[in-house]
Amino acid sequence: MNRRTLFHGIFAGLAPAPLFADTKATLPLTEFEPKSMLHVQETLVERAKYPVIDFHTHISWGDNMAGKEAVRFPAPASELLAVMDRRNLRMLVDLTGGYGKGLEKTIATLQKPHPDRFIVFTEPWWSKAPEPGYPQFQADQIARAHQAGARGIKVLKTLGLYLRENVRSGKLIKIDDPRFDPMWEAAAAYKMPVAIHTSDPEAFFLPIDRFNERYEELNAHQDWSFHGKDFPSNRELQEARRRVMKRHARTQFVCLHVADSEDLAYTSELLDSLPNMSVEIGARIGELGRQPRTARKFFDKYQDRILFGTDAVPHGEEFPQQVFGDKLYQIYYRFLETEDEYFDYAPSRIPPQGRWRIYGLGLPDPILRKVYNANAARLLGLTLS
Ligand SMILES: [Zn+2]
Repeated sequence: MNRRTLFHGIFAGLAPAPLFADTKATLPLTEFEPKSMLHVQETLVERAKYPVIDFHTHISWGDNMAGKEAVRFPAPASELLAVMDRRNLRMLVDLTGGYGKGLEKTIATLQKPHPDRFIVFTEPWWSKAPEPGYPQFQADQIARAHQAGARGIKVLKTLGLYLRENVRSGKLIKIDDPRFDPMWEAAAAYKMPVAIHTSDPEAFFLPIDRFNERYEELNAHQDWSFHGKDFPSNRELQEARRRVMKRHARTQFVCLHVADSEDLAYTSELLDSLPNMSVEIGARIGELGRQPRTARKFFDKYQDRILFGTDAVPHGEEFPQQVFGDKLYQIYYRFLETEDEYFDYAPSRIPPQGRWRIYGLGLPDPILRKVYNANAARLLGLTLS
């Protein structure tokens, strides 16, 4: 008997001294990879039940603040098409198609050679927003982009969170700033839907501390935080977007990332009051899938206004929930088509957006068909053969 057990024996019942205290290990959070011991159904969905239009991809990129028209392509079309054929992906919508000469290059690289597989959107010339004459210039550029073959407009969260009066410095330019009004109207005139990303998860507006449910994600990407400084709140940003959609009732807006995937009651209220609004689900199955009963009712009620999307980026390994590839689509299909329980929302060692798992929605066929392709086809003016 060593001294510790002897001591313990003598004072048993008096002091709750832990007998094995010195054998306890400290495990860093980054090394904690618990494996679920649940024995539940695991369905591998190789191909979507209906042909899919992925309304939210980034298969070309430019620098949308630098004023440079250059674009780059993280993967050749042949690499994308191979995944698309395996996964029953009919079309990819490339939202970040660029503007000016960059847009023309994107269209020549993707859309022209494969008009039935790739669709390209244009982006605003943010770097020119502070200049006089910008409102008309931007409206004219939408006309030029339409002429070149662009089928819609993409607005990154740049608007509201990055773009300032001197592009990178000065006051933040508001989402409902009237200088963009001619652009929103041009979108309506050319029947180009506006895919708009506004704000970010609520946790991005909170301190990066032990109470933050996205602690690991934000700790790894501290520049994603919009806590403090002169940033508006999540709700202020959302409300500014609401005013834009209300003011431009002829323009079709697709609110990316489910508008607000953490508050489906708020998103429902927006959808109820704005007939020109739809939503897309990219990079948010982690949110929808952890509230499966609320999400299922949401899909039932708004089945004509929800679009499939992933926010996929080829070779974007830093963001596992967005890496374009076979695995990503299998997870999305599993989420939408099956009633599987408690599975990973991203192909990743550790859940990248927060430590939880998701539940499938098991959507019925008519809803699946609308979400996979019919809703997007209607907005894009396409007939799928
Ligand atoms: Zn995106």
